[in-house]
Amino acid sequence: MALCSVCMARPHRVRHAPPPTEDVMNAAAMPGGKVVIFTGLKKCVHTEEELAAVIGHEISHVLLRHSAEQMGSTALMNYFFFLLALLGLPVNELTLLLGDLTWQRPNSRLHEKEADAVGVLLCAKAGYNPAAAVRVFERMAGEELKRSKGVTVPGFLSTHPAFPERIALLKREVEKVRPLYEASKEAAFFSFT
Ligand SMILES: [Zn+2]
Repeated sequence: MALCSVCMARPHRVRHAPPPTEDVMNAAAMPGGKVVIFTGLKKCVHTEEELAAVIGHEISHVLLRHSAEQMGSTALMNYFFFLLALLGLPVNELTLLLGDLTWQRPNSRLHEKEADAVGVLLCAKAGYNPAAAVRVFERMAGEELKRSKGVTVPGFLSTHPAFPERIALLKREVEKVRPLYEASKEAAFFSFT
């Protein structure tokens, strides 16, 4: 079954983007529903089911309307700063940074966790082994470690959860959706026999 057919939403457009550099090891969901996968991800994505894991994660951002939520939360924060300015309180780079660290980035990390969980669910329903997502993130963690030479960004500064936390969450979610995957495999077997 195609991944998009389990989404129960309008069709998604997935584009293979020419890389700004071969080093961009990422994928993204754009406002409006387009999904972009950069060629640099080839280092971590070796099979069709691993590609499905990446697409499933990005489609989940679209289904969960994370772009809209992000825009709404930015607008809310801007209103808050406007209110501070009206009250004569300082709105400067420090206040903006505090807003980013205490509101925007935690929200972004939450969105990533949600997309990870829904992504493996979509893969399982589509008949792709959801454990593929764990392999992709383990490779990404390895690549990241090589690039950063062991220097890690503190969790509260990051827009994404740390890889060990993400991989642990994915493993739990994979176990939850495994019965769905087994059922999808069986359904596919009987439809071909
Ligand atoms: Zn994401």
